[in-house]
Amino acid sequence: MPGGPGLLEGGMRFVRFLREGEVAYGIWEDEGIRPVEGHPTDSWRPREELIAHGDARLLPPCTPSKVVALGLNYRDHAEETKMPIPCEPLLFLKPSTSVIGPGQPIVIPPMSERVDYEAELAVVIGKRAKDVSPEEAGSFVWGYTCLNDVTARDLQAKDGQWTRAKGFDTFCPIGPWVATGLDPSSLAIEGVLNGEVRQRSCTSRLIFSVAEIVSFVSRIMTLLPGDVIATGTPSGIGPLRRGDVFEVRIEGIGVLENPVA
Ligand code: MG
Repeated sequence: MPGGPGLLEGGMRFVRFLREGEVAYGIWEDEGIRPVEGHPTDSWRPREELIAHGDARLLPPCTPSKVVALGLNYRDHAEETKMPIPCEPLLFLKPSTSVIGPGQPIVIPPMSERVDYEAELAVVIGKRAKDVSPEEAGSFVWGYTCLNDVTARDLQAKDGQWTRAKGFDTFCPIGPWVATGLDPSSLAIEGVLNGEVRQRSCTSRLIFSVAEIVSFVSRIMTLLPGDVIATGTPSGIGPLRRGDVFEVRIEGIGVLENPVA
């Protein structure tokens, strides 16, 4: 993992986890998970108790009503797919049912013969956002997480639009947590297949910045707390096969790892 700035002062790592049949939010600390009362995007307070990391199973760190994603937001990826660089953000949606958490398996559907990974920085919304300007967009963001925009590449080409190719169950791993207090403008990002780095870039190379994206999307659809925006993938995309393990690593956030079943 490349070095550089981590969480800013006051930044936290919010997890959602399952323990003894109950789902809760908590803060990931070095010594364990500290459960919180309330909801992290609303009012909350930490509890005294500390749970050992191994006693909880991490879930997707938020429960989005929708996942909005950008196509072709890194110049190098537009070039490798031989697509023109868009003059405004190119959007598509992934269904909430495609979301899985860290460690959960990505399932290759029988309908596709070519399923690709796409390592991406994801923005998690913290406050209802409608018609916000780029200048005020940051105050509507809860934090950031890693996302794998899994794509059935053959079906994307065949259909001409992307709903099927991007929408299968398990095609949207997110996590491991929502990192708050992070400046998203220059974070190293890597996609790692079976321990080998396949994608390597920096969010400073995004064509449209996080603030521009949040503002743009909010002028189309109301963003709700917990909604996720995937900011696009850099070059180096490639196929996933059964038995593979894919990691999305982002500086200041951490590592999202999922096996392929
Ligand atoms: Mg993508």
